[in-house]
Amino acid sequence: MAHELPKLPYAYDALEPYIDEQTMKLHHDIHHAGYVNGLNAAEAKLAAARAAGDFSAVKHLSREAAFHGSGHLLHSVFWPNMIAASQAQAAPGGDLADAIARDFGSFDAFKGQFVAASIAVEGSGWGILAYRPTDDTLVVLTAEKHQNLTQWGVVPLLVLDVWEHAYYLKYQNRRGEYVNSFFNILNWDDVAARFESASS
Ligand code: MN
Repeated sequence: MAHELPKLPYAYDALEPYIDEQTMKLHHDIHHAGYVNGLNAAEAKLAAARAAGDFSAVKHLSREAAFHGSGHLLHSVFWPNMIAASQAQAAPGGDLADAIARDFGSFDAFKGQFVAASIAVEGSGWGILAYRPTDDTLVVLTAEKHQNLTQWGVVPLLVLDVWEHAYYLKYQNRRGEYVNSFFNILNWDDVAARFESASS
């Protein structure tokens, strides 16, 4: 199913004077729309490649899907993260406030790190407050560009280490052989359990 550009949850000028109306129009209607269209195009081409059994363009298409998919996902979080200043709160309450105090020491300490990290990230990037489910912890991260070949928010179900240390002693430069061999040693029950957990 094709991805759709989500509507802004407020008017283009709602974030004035902090973010101006023209910036919001360009950012949402042109930039975010471009990510949605690019993701749809990449996924259609990947489907065609699967149907044809022709993966000669898979490196390019994977990059396209990661770039546009990450742009779409992050902007879809970014818009509803904001609200008109008249309705905005200075700090969170409830469980999130407790978790921030627990994991960063205080709200001000969190804000200090988030601001510094967002200023320091090189190139086109993002400041990100994220929840790490592996140990139930909040973390501040940054992303350079925004894809690094992934799509934010996905839950990994099956992963394969293709750093050379993972295969070089046995396979040397023959990574393809290593990758194919992986499929002889898979615990699909584990993968299925992760899928059940993530999708239910
Ligand atoms: Mn953007």
